[in-house]
Amino acid sequence: MIWLDAAQIQVAFRTASFATRLAFAYFRAVIRLVLFDIDGTLIRTGGAGMRAFDKAFETEFKSSGVTKGVSFAGRTDTGLVRECFLKLEISHDAKNQRRFFDAYVFWLDHFLGQFHGQVCFGVHDWIEALGRLPRSPALGLLTGNIRLGAEIKLRHYGLWHHFRSGAFGDDHENRNELAVIARERGSRLVGSSLRGDEILVIGDTPLDIQCARAVNARVLAVATGGHTSEELRLHQPDWVADELRELDVADVCFR
Ligand SMILES: [Mg+2]
Repeated sequence: MIWLDAAQIQVAFRTASFATRLAFAYFRAVIRLVLFDIDGTLIRTGGAGMRAFDKAFETEFKSSGVTKGVSFAGRTDTGLVRECFLKLEISHDAKNQRRFFDAYVFWLDHFLGQFHGQVCFGVHDWIEALGRLPRSPALGLLTGNIRLGAEIKLRHYGLWHHFRSGAFGDDHENRNELAVIARERGSRLVGSSLRGDEILVIGDTPLDIQCARAVNARVLAVATGGHTSEELRLHQPDWVADELRELDVADVCFR
């Protein structure tokens, strides 16, 4: 019998034909849940999300330019609102949060139609390729967007129907806790307790990488948001790409 070490297996896998790779992959441990971040990973709204945030503060709390100087990348909506309320010295209570988010989703829907956004390169192909894999993984979301905001954004770009599970900014303010919730929900969806190495997180910020590590998940960092691949590489994700289409789905899921 010939024994191959991990590096030799990887080389053999990459050089085999597609059919051989699929057959080979069928018998290997595989990714069973893929969790996508939204902004900068699946889509770019062209600034509609940030504009909706500002507009909701303008209409509900008579405050303009609230998001100026606030970093949105990788943050949860609930954490951002807390920061803005603090800045404006407004009480961060349930009533004000509801008031803000009711206005936010209205303006989000309004601005998505006006701003020039897009689905990130390679996303449609990647999702299709995931669906063609043998024992294709479940697809979920791991996002700081509140659930309704996520739905409004992804319905606008025709992507919402792909996702059967997820964790959202209104589940928890801390993104690392969202990863735990996403793993639990994903486990219920697939019918067994998922190990970290059976989960792939795809995101565009160091905070996505960090939250994937909170559940020992594998992580693919993509530089379609605000960070370059060099910046993302410093945080040691398992894969880095300028765009998703650079990476072969089977290479990632059956590694
Ligand atoms: Mg993002």
